[in-house]
Amino acid sequence: MEAYQQSPAPEMAGGVWKRVVVVGGGVAGSLIAKSLQFQADVTLIDPKEYFEIPWASLRAKVEPTFAERSLIYHKDYLTNGRLVLSKAISISNSQVLTAEGRLVTYDYLVIATGHDDPLPKTKSERLKEYQTEHERIRSASSVLIVGGGPTGVELAGEIAVDFPDKKVVLVHEGSRLLEFIGPKAADKTLEWLKSKRVEVKLRQSVDLNNSSEGNNTFITSSGEIINADCHFVCTGRPSGSAWLHETILKNSVDGLGRLKVDENLRVKGFKNIFAIGDITDVREIKQGYLAQKHALIAAKNLKVMMRGGKEKKMASYKPHSIKVVVSLGRQDAVAQFPLTTLIGLVPGFIKSKDLFVGKIRKQLGLDPRLVDY
Ligand SMILES: Cc1cc2nc3c(=O)[nH]c(=O)nc-3n(C[C@H](O)[C@H](O)[C@H](O)COP(=O)(O)OP(=O)(O)OC[C@H]3O[C@@H](n4cnc5c(N)ncnc54)[C@H](O)[C@@H]3O)c2cc1C
Repeated sequence: MEAYQQSPAPEMAGGVWKRVVVVGGGVAGSLIAKSLQFQADVTLIDPKEYFEIPWASLRAKVEPTFAERSLIYHKDYLTNGRLVLSKAISISNSQVLTAEGRLVTYDYLVIATGHDDPLPKTKSERLKEYQTEHERIRSASSVLIVGGGPTGVELAGEIAVDFPDKKVVLVHEGSRLLEFIGPKAADKTLEWLKSKRVEVKLRQSVDLNNSSEGNNTFITSSGEIINADCHFVCTGRPSGSAWLHETILKNSVDGLGRLKVDENLRVKGFKNIFAIGDITDVREIKQGYLAQKHALIAAKNLKVMMRGGKEKKMASYKPHSIKVVVSLGRQDAVAQFPLTTLIGLVPGFIKSKDLFVGKIRKQLGLDPRLVDY
């Protein structure tokens, strides 16, 4: 095993900076790394050279150039920190071990490995993937979507709006769509999809082992045969905590694969290890804008600790009530707020045109409109 050579950060203003290692360059990890880079010696560990705004990936399948702004090179916002392009596979109480065998030493560790999607390492490979997926959709007359959670619903909306002539079938094994939010939102979404001629089959699954895109035939659990020229599996993203199971944090992972945190967003029982974003067991809906709030609270608390401040000066995180917007194509959306559920152009105005891409770019200090090359 090779010890990773941590040379001093390029623009250290004086004094000795603490080494903060952030594992996971997603919504939460990118923001905390960016926020701390001029007050700490920051290393970001992520297997990709870019941060991808997860919910923009559905639009990118129907409009591949959309991904040029929603795939953001880590180096563009992390201008004063280090990047290790690898997966973390283990940790001790002072080091992170990466898949390539590097040991990265930390004073403070932030775990932000929300979901573990197998994505290509480079932005150009990811853009090519979108081009291929777009071509598959464009050349198909019929598309099957498996899974009626937010990913399946948003993809069905994108295809139904951009390619109204294609037959779209969505199969979901639950009794209603969007089970992570309320039944009213599910009913309204079902009506919207039907109005766009999307065929929704509930309480059924597709046996993907006995189906094949080669002969365009898929069989559902009730024996129905669906003919589709291409299919997309949208059945949830795996949790990014499997790598922690044999580590010092093995008892900190709950049955859902989430890290148990205290009100300061530190892993319970560990003074110098924080966890933020979807990986935490914070009792609230898992959303990117909340992952960002975690990042900002944890950044504040890290600054207090790095200055040697008292623990009571640290900020507490209060779980938020539900606020979710699921886009339905380019103009409409369904939104659930604490007291109401809305569908149509009004919630669509909040999310569906730009999918918050400009907003996220701005938060990372980048031009909201520009494409990175
Ligand atoms: C279809 C859909 C629509 C959504 N719409 C919205 C919305 O409108 N608004 C909203 O706020 N939220 C939305 N969300 C939720 C949002 O995407 C998540 O809450 C958010 O991505 C969580 O951020 P995170 O940083 O915790 O994890 P992620 O964004 O999943 O990032 C995890 C990062 O960790 C990396 N990683 C994983 N394992 C390792 C490892 N072992 N070593 C190193 N790196 C690792 C990954 O490569 C990734 O970069 C949506 C989600 C979906 C699926």
